[in-house]
Amino acid sequence: MPDDADVVVVGSGAGGATFAHECARLGKQVLVLERGQRYALPRPVHDEQAMLIDKTPYDDRRIEVNGRARQLYMGGVVGGGTALYGAALMRPSADDFRPGKSYSALLPRALWEWPIAYEDLEPFYSEAEILFGVAGDGDDDFGPLPRPRNGFPQRPLPVHPVNQRLMEANRRHGLRPFRLPLAIDPTRCLQCGVCPGYICPTGARRSAAQLLEPAPANLRVVTNTEAERLVLNGKGEPDGVQAVDRSTGQRVVYRARRYVLAAGAIGSPLLLLRSGMTHPLIGRNYMMHYSPIVIGIFRRRLDAGEAFVKQVGFTDWYFGTKDYAHKLGLVQSLPVPGPLMLRKAAPRWLPRTFLSMLRARMLPLVGIIEDLPNPDNRVSWGPDNQPRLQHRFAPYDLERGRRLAGFTAGILKHAGAAFCLTSKFGSEEHVAHQCGTLRFGNDPADAVLDADGRMFGHSNVFAVDGSFMPTSLGVGPALTIMANALRIARIVAPEC
Ligand SMILES: Cc1cc2nc3c(=O)[nH]c(=O)nc-3n(C[C@H](O)[C@H](O)[C@H](O)COP(=O)(O)OP(=O)(O)OC[C@H]3O[C@@H](n4cnc5c(N)ncnc54)[C@H](O)[C@@H]3O)c2cc1C
Ligand code: SF4
Repeated sequence: MPDDADVVVVGSGAGGATFAHECARLGKQVLVLERGQRYALPRPVHDEQAMLIDKTPYDDRRIEVNGRARQLYMGGVVGGGTALYGAALMRPSADDFRPGKSYSALLPRALWEWPIAYEDLEPFYSEAEILFGVAGDGDDDFGPLPRPRNGFPQRPLPVHPVNQRLMEANRRHGLRPFRLPLAIDPTRCLQCGVCPGYICPTGARRSAAQLLEPAPANLRVVTNTEAERLVLNGKGEPDGVQAVDRSTGQRVVYRARRYVLAAGAIGSPLLLLRSGMTHPLIGRNYMMHYSPIVIGIFRRRLDAGEAFVKQVGFTDWYFGTKDYAHKLGLVQSLPVPGPLMLRKAAPRWLPRTFLSMLRARMLPLVGIIEDLPNPDNRVSWGPDNQPRLQHRFAPYDLERGRRLAGFTAGILKHAGAAFCLTSKFGSEEHVAHQCGTLRFGNDPADAVLDADGRMFGHSNVFAVDGSFMPTSLGVGPALTIMANALRIARIVAPEC
């Protein structure tokens, strides 16, 4: 039977679309299977009920999380998470690739270094920043995080007055605020009050979906089609992907020379487990960052919920402090929650009028704590054939989160907050930064993939989504996933 393509890619998010685009650019026939649809812009575009409460652009599967079935906040349309993300595309520190420097007592020796160094990925970070049009200021001081050698492809949006005050006040206190590098085209951005979590109405916020459209003749995207399993031949080698058309229920087997998994750190291990793959680490070591949210409440109205404020980052405590030498990661702006999400998070007894008074006076920030891998945190299939996620943060992650929340409250107080509320998104639904479930490494005893992203023992299967990451970094994962997908495309394309 002739092959359907040189490469079949499962999933069209940060990893899948970036990989597919690069392989097609290198002249390969590429077929992308995507479970979701191309998302039609709703009217009104910023409909909080449709987007964040009914979760229409999110993955519509029910996944049992710690015993309770939930629909998770993970992109379920073409573009995956990047159709909805905040687009903060941050480079991690070179020492993020050497976790042993921060956690030697807590991690097995095999995880002290990633199998590649930051320098190996550096050229691909630059390429990804260009592909996604990252807007930032190359003169900003990112502390331990590296700057692009040739600057950013675009200038950032003007800083909102609320953020100007935040930055100036904190500079006076000796901190180093910087403008978040964002994959947002300032010339097309409407600077809406809500941005992450919603489909962008102008396309200013660059989604991986834009890499697939218009598609060149050698790149085909089949939507609404769920890859169910790899089909194995008599020798146990994958030689097809079985997928189901979700509208007709028809099943088709797609064949290619290489199979590249990019269904996300929850979707890809589920597919491998369903295919009968038995590596003991498949689905284990699921990570997602511990993200303490601190909301500053100011005496005067800021109306930050009516403006674009996700603009500022701090790395002052990235590797801890003199008194507390533990990695604490990035602090960054967060948009003010909409009225419905605020209602969902607040105690039931608080009156609506009080919440809207608070909302007009709030400014949130969020920390990104690098949660450590734990094999008990895992994705699997339950006995009832339902996807299942078991996850608990370790006391060490929570303690670092508590410390970082204290520093974050200090940032807001420097800017005039009367008091701060500390909370976090319920870990049960917010799985945006999912990673780690098919980690790469040098030894099949400690990793599912080798340094090239290829499955140990299955030379024609690769993974390029967030599942490859052995540790979760102190910044958002999207830019690293994109850069790694570009790197792996250069390895896979010459093989087919
Ligand atoms: C609201 C939100 C805000 C975020 N903000 C940021 C940010 O500011 N900075 C940052 O770095 N990161 C951010 N993220 C995280 C970032 O978007 C993800 O890390 C990134 O998209 C993950 O890429 P991926 O390739 O692993 O998977 P995804 O982008 O999730 O793509 C997986 C794709 O596979 C498809 N799929 C799943 N199963 C199957 C199957 N069986 N068959 C076919 N297709 C399948 C899914 O529908 C999806 O399209 C955010 C995420 C969200 C949801
Ligand atoms: S703020 Fe800009 S990038 Fe965000 S949704 Fe609005 S137009 Fe798009």
